[in-house]
Amino acid sequence: MIALSNRITQLSESETLAMARKSRELKAQGFDVINLSLGEPDFFTPDYVKTAAKKAIDENFSFYTPVNGYLELRQAICKKLKRDNKLEFSPEQIVVSTGAKQALINTLLCLVNPGEEVIIAAPYWVSYRDMVKLAEGEAVYITAGIENDFKITPAQLEAAITPKTKVFMFSSPCNPTGSVYTREELKALADVFEKHPHVYILSDEIYEHINFSGSHESIAQFESVRERVIIINGVSKGFAMTGWRVGYLAAHLDIAKACTKLQGQFTSGTNSIAQRATIAAVDADPANTFEMLEKFRERRDLVLDLMKDIPGFITNKPEGAFYVFPNVKSYFGKSDGQTRVGNAAELCMYLLNKAQVALVPGDAFGDPECIRFSYATSNDLLIEAVSRLKKALAELE
Ligand code: PMP
Ligand code: GLU
Repeated sequence: MIALSNRITQLSESETLAMARKSRELKAQGFDVINLSLGEPDFFTPDYVKTAAKKAIDENFSFYTPVNGYLELRQAICKKLKRDNKLEFSPEQIVVSTGAKQALINTLLCLVNPGEEVIIAAPYWVSYRDMVKLAEGEAVYITAGIENDFKITPAQLEAAITPKTKVFMFSSPCNPTGSVYTREELKALADVFEKHPHVYILSDEIYEHINFSGSHESIAQFESVRERVIIINGVSKGFAMTGWRVGYLAAHLDIAKACTKLQGQFTSGTNSIAQRATIAAVDADPANTFEMLEKFRERRDLVLDLMKDIPGFITNKPEGAFYVFPNVKSYFGKSDGQTRVGNAAELCMYLLNKAQVALVPGDAFGDPECIRFSYATSNDLLIEAVSRLKKALAELE
């Protein structure tokens, strides 16, 4: 047996990636699996982005880049933050990374000392929990239920903050619930943070462009907390560029410098061609993403409508991202005569084996009564998937 470190043995495999792997394995064995586990747009990267990448290859952008990203890209990100979010940042405050994932872990590693508390708004994106573990922080969860559209209240936040709290982290639009905090709700949270100047706010805005509720709101807009907000964003979701691996953060200069130092010892600047392509993405008029947004809205409406016919599936109305997160606890304890379904993980395995639909159990996201259903696929596949789920679930009694 190889003597691996405690650090890695204590870490869990990402459950979204694990379900995607299982579904690929079953597909390779010839099963007709509909994979709704992985959250990634099924659209192709826009042509104007691909053209910029091809040009970058021809123009020999093949050398190491500055650790924090090309200056032109960081300038383009600053322009975007001003244009879309009315936020002023200088290029020195931007760090471009290998996906938003790296921007998140960079921030946690640069801010959190062992034992300091990181408050995570639950349901949360799967990797937050293990990233906090890697940073040796103590995760503290604030759980928001479906009755509050899975959004935490200022009173919950106030009650969770202690002198040991270092960071609060959340996503809006939220993965996995699709919930979107309104400006007023963010203001109410900012008012709580105003009273606790030792807390940093990690605001994951990767689903900014997949928001059906109107314009995107960032908690960084509030002057009272502005200096302590770290905005995480990227091009994976809004520009259908998951495989290109470009994300970024915008933060106080000291945090940006720290993240650059860390990244310089770890990965260096991310892929040069992908960075050039990202300039074209963030420079483009956001209206370019509207077509994809409309498709996602159509699919959300379709899925919610179809799910109404599944008894015991309780859903909120997601206002962003591309997930539905139904509460499925009414199926726990039921059996089809062969398999007993005790919890969300067993229900997901049952649905994978019986209906060949891959979903992710809610435990991964901090709500064990739910399962996550990604609707980032075609209407035909969504109709087929929900019909298979309905049939398999009807056999449980
Ligand atoms: N944050 C959230 C909420 C996500 O859903 C994802 C999904 N990948 C990420 C961060 C990471 O994105 P990236 O592909 O840019 O690493
Ligand atoms: N963020 C996506 C998801 O939640 C991609 C998978 C991952 O990076 O974990 O499914």
